[in-house]
This record gives sequence, C-alpha cells and structure tokens, in this order.
Amino acid sequence: MADIPPSRSRSTESLFSPGQSTPTSSVDDNSSDVHSHQTTTTTPATTPPNTPLTALTHASLLSPSTSSPTTPLSLLTIGFGPASLAIAIALSDHLTASPSSPSPPVLFLEKQPQFAWHAGMQLSGTHMQISFLKDLATPRDPTSPFSFLNYLFSKGRLQKFINLGTFLPARREYEDYMRWCASHFSRAVRYGAEITRVDAVHNPDTGKVDRFNVHWIDVATGAPGSACARNVVVATGGSPAVPSLFAPFTTGPDARFIHSSQYATSISSLAPALLSPSSPQHLVVVGGGQSAAEIYVDLGIRFPEAKITLLVKDTSLRPSDDSPFVNEIFDPDRVTPTYELGAAERAEKRERDKGTNYGVVRLELLERIYSELYAQEVDEPCEERWRCRVRNSRTVVGVERLQGGGVRLDVVRRGEGEREVLEAGLVVFATGYVRDAHVRILEGTRGLLEAEKAAEAAVVGEVAPAVEAEAPAAEVAEVVPVVEAVPAAEVAAPEAAAPEAVAVETAAETTAETTTAPAPETTETTTTTTTTTTETNAPADATAVEQVKVTVEVTSTPAVFPVGRDYKVQYAPGAVEEGAGVWLQGCNEKTHGLSDTLLSILAHRGGEVVGSIFGPGSGSK
Ligand SMILES: Cc1cc2nc3c(=O)[nH]c(=O)nc-3n(C[C@H](O)[C@H](O)[C@H](O)COP(=O)(O)OP(=O)(O)OC[C@H]3O[C@@H](n4cnc5c(N)ncnc54)[C@H](O)[C@@H]3O)c2cc1C
Repeated sequence: MADIPPSRSRSTESLFSPGQSTPTSSVDDNSSDVHSHQTTTTTPATTPPNTPLTALTHASLLSPSTSSPTTPLSLLTIGFGPASLAIAIALSDHLTASPSSPSPPVLFLEKQPQFAWHAGMQLSGTHMQISFLKDLATPRDPTSPFSFLNYLFSKGRLQKFINLGTFLPARREYEDYMRWCASHFSRAVRYGAEITRVDAVHNPDTGKVDRFNVHWIDVATGAPGSACARNVVVATGGSPAVPSLFAPFTTGPDARFIHSSQYATSISSLAPALLSPSSPQHLVVVGGGQSAAEIYVDLGIRFPEAKITLLVKDTSLRPSDDSPFVNEIFDPDRVTPTYELGAAERAEKRERDKGTNYGVVRLELLERIYSELYAQEVDEPCEERWRCRVRNSRTVVGVERLQGGGVRLDVVRRGEGEREVLEAGLVVFATGYVRDAHVRILEGTRGLLEAEKAAEAAVVGEVAPAVEAEAPAAEVAEVVPVVEAVPAAEVAAPEAAAPEAVAVETAAETTAETTTAPAPETTETTTTTTTTTTETNAPADATAVEQVKVTVEVTSTPAVFPVGRDYKVQYAPGAVEEGAGVWLQGCNEKTHGLSDTLLSILAHRGGEVVGSIFGPGSGSK
C-alpha cells in the first residue's frame, strides 16, 4: 500500500463495513502506461498520476491495463466526466467488495488536459443544485470511500462543512470533490485524447462484432491513437448549442460572442478589449436560465462601469421547482417507469416536469437580481438609465459587426413587434447544450442498427442502381440525420440545472453538425459577416477566446441509436456478440427521463452500467 496518509486509513476503517475493508495492493509502480495497446497509429503515452495514490481505488484500476487486437480492453469510456467517473467508482467498489472477481483492463479517455467540470461556469458564489448526499457513490452505497463526506474528512473540512449547515456545497468545492475522486483513477485515465470515431470489428469466425476500435487525436500534439475494447461507454456530455444567427460571430480576430460554457475561462482575456474606449461599454447576456442569470450578475460585479443587459425570451424569469414532491422525479426508481411509458406520454411528462430544469433560475438568485434592480429604481426612476437591466420578451433577430469592436443586435419585443437596436461590446449566449456527439462518434457502427440493415436489404432487394448501392458510408452520412427531428428548443437540451429560454430565433428543426467554420445560414447581414469572419485566421491576440466548436442548426432527418433500459445500444439482433457492446450516458433524456443529463442518479446509474457490462451483482455495491 503506498502513500496512504494516516487520516485516510482511519477514515476508511471507520466508514467501511467489514466486507469492504480497504484493498491492499501494490500500486507503487508508477512507471507503467495506462494501457499498452497500440494499433497502426500510435503508442499511448503514459499518463502520470497527478496525486499520491491511495488505497481507495481497487488495484486493478490503478494497474497498467493492456489491450491488443487479440486481447481487447474490457471497458473503455469516451469522456471522463461525472458519468464515467461514477462508473469507475462503482467498478472499484465492486472489485473491492469481491476480491475474487477478475480484474478487468479498463481505460477512461478524456479530451481535457486534466479533470475539470464545467470550467467555464466555475464562478465564485455559485452553488450546487443538488444535495451533496447525491454524490457519485452514496445513494448506491453509503459505505463507499468515494462519498462526499469521506472527501471532506480526507481534506480535514468535515466539521467546518457541518457548521455551514448546507446540503448545497459551492460548485467549486464539488468540482474539487470530483477531481479528488478522479485522482484515484489517474493511471487508468488518458487525458488530452479527443475521440473522433468508433469502428466495429468483426470476429472472422462468427461474423459478428466482438470488439470496437476507438480512435482519438492527441489534443496537444495532433497525433492519432487508438485502442480496442469489447465494451465502450460514450459519456461525452453536452456540446454548446450555438444558434445559427450567432455562429458566424463566435470565431475570428474580434469574436464578441461567447457561449456560457466558455465564460469563466475567457472573460479575463477578453477584458482589455471590452474595456477599450472604442468598444461599447455595454455587455449583453442572452438566455433565461441559471447560467444566464449567473453570468449577468457576474458581469455586473466584474465590470462595475459597464451597462449590463439580460435578454430573456420568456415573459419573465422563472424559478426552478425543487420542492420535495416534484424532486421525486429525480429518484433512481423513476427511471424504469419512465422508460416503460410510450413516447408520447414520456414527452408529455417531460413537458410537465421541465420547470425543474429548463429555462429556470434558483429562487435565491432571482430574489437577489430583483432586489438589485429595485435598488436602482430607488435612485433613478427611469429604467432606461439603469446600469443593469433585465428585458423580458426579447428576441434577437439580427446581428451586425461594428467597426472598432463590438456588435449591433436587432432585438424584437415579443407580442408587440417593437424593434430596437442594441450595441454591445460582448454578447454571452447561455443557450444550452446539444447532446448528440455520440451520433458522430458512432457513425462507423451505424450499419449495425436494425433500421440500417433493413434499409440496406431493401436497397439490395429493389435492385437499386449500382451507384446508390455502392455509395460509400461517408456520402450516405451526409444526408443522414444526426438527431431526432424535434423542435430546436427540445433538441438543444440545455444544461441540466441551468437550462435556458433561448432568446434568439432558432430554426424549427434540429441541429447536429459540429464545425468551427459555421455555415453562413443566417440573415443577410450576418451572411456577409460570416464570409469575412471565417476567411480570417484568428490571431492569438489577447482578445481571442478559446475556440468553441459550434453546433449549427441544419435541417435533416433523424438518426437515433436506440438504447435499452440498461443504456446499451440496441444494434440489430445477432449483429454484436454477447459480452460486447456500446453504452450511452447522458443523452437519453427522452427515454430515461429528466435525470439523465444530471448528477442526480449517477451513483446508481454507474452501478447499473457496471452490472450490465460485467454481470448482475457487479454493480450493486
Ligand atoms: C454550469 C452547470 C452547472 C450544473 N450543475 C448541476 C448541478 O448542480 N446538479 C446537477 O445534477 N447537474 C448539474 N449540471 C448538469 C451536468 O450535465 C451534470 O452536472 C454533469 O456534468 C453530467 O456529467 P456527464 O459526465 O454526463 O457530462 P460532462 O460533465 O459534460 O462530461 C463529459 C466529458 O466528456 C468529455 N468529452 C466530450 N467529448 C469528448 C470526446 N470526443 N473525446 C473525449 N472526451 C470527450 C468532456 O470533456 C467532459 O469531460 C450542471 C451543468 C452545468 C453546465
């Protein structure tokens, strides 16, 4: 056992049930690679442990895992956010409780350079929107060493946290808790690897798929890499939903539009440009959810001389409903009944319950904003002269770039059709997220879906013209839909607890393409600007915001990877061997309910996925 601080040993003794004593294992060989598999492209680099190893993690998850074309990994996850971390914890807890279980080789892949949770929204003063008791382990197993309480204990803050008398830790502290959990798996994680594609590999003997090749690009070097696994979990979270109207303005030398997911990580470098006298001293936030409200408040503090405007599409900012009866919809035992409902009933239920989640703001924050607006009115009865304003029923319908920095927004007032022009030095759009990355990543396995096989058979049966029958997959993909065709507001599923009432005109259909060169699919004004913007190479000046991959709206037919209750993609019967498969996490809200994109049930869900992959009983502890 290596590097176990005495206090942690004590903590595990006191927290563990007898059957779960801290595993003793040799974990001091930090010379090994996370895994040793290599295909034609590259040898995965060593991921050095970033914290001292502790006895919390089962040895097999700290040992070097090996995979090769003949001995694939047992499990590989794409993305190492909270969803995959909960799986790692559930697996570790299971292996700890069942010392005789074979130790599977696993690998967690993450594109960020280290563990980070919504870094762009780590604002001071923000808090969690669920109880810390719903951490990544406790609801599944209150004796797990990965509980938030054990984290506090290990950090020496348990007593003080108790004195705080809260169930809602600061967002920063919760990120630190998850980072602490992640640090225990650092040898099984490869950071800085962005997965681009998963391909199915057929077993020549059975003709069935028995493993998957997962391909990535090393974010730092651009070098390609790959690994082979029997079971792959896609847990990539959301990508910023960028309304097509704004997309042309998010890149280039003078980008003055940023998505909320970039806010905290970009705002400091943007500040000098925003404060320059030629730039309008007016900062605009678009959105009606928690993120929009938080950014509006933060801008007001950060730029005390600037005017701040929050544009809300709805007729009012609205509070989130976290009352106890309603909160039951996030209980783990609600997933199965939701999954068993018909699609129409599920949609109806989602619509009824969305006030818990979408386009709503926590009451305390609303009260703070309201009282600050009121204080301005005491000093100045004319609202137009206020420094900070919340403007309801407003929709942005046009954008134009200003000489000297900044943009001009054409804003329409709902109902009355009244138009006004706003000039802004910065526009932050808190317009939520789309959860469709799996569709692109899994494109190479599409042909295994029943619908695709049927279509293929139909084409063959119809004696289709040779040119069609031979059409390469890439061409087919272009006309193939990538997300369900539902109204944009639904597809652009905003972040869990901070969803947005998007105040920009969006197309009725959906979104799905990720690109850094957005299609010039906008109004006349913006189309012109798009050309200019996309042709310019963004210089690395102080004002350059980190490039965000934008999701532009395109109209296309739907593409769905259907999943079972166990989150396993349902490829055509017989297409994939038993003991192999792909699981989807965090993009199943339509089938599994509103908790799917949240932290609420991750502890349980991690256990369920482990049980589904490694057999019944393996995920229960
Ligand atoms: C500001 C904010 C606050 C929130 N607060 C709460 C809250 O208080 N309570 C709550 O229940 N929910 C909250 N949520 C909802 C949020 O979705 C969940 O908290 C949680 O992040 C979901 O975890 P995940 O692992 O599914 O997705 P993510 O956290 O998005 O993690 C996905 C990971 O996959 C990585 N990734 C993506 N694509 C690739 C790729 N191609 N290759 C490799 N890696 C990739 C990403 O870098 C990321 O680390 C909040 C969301 C936001 C935006």
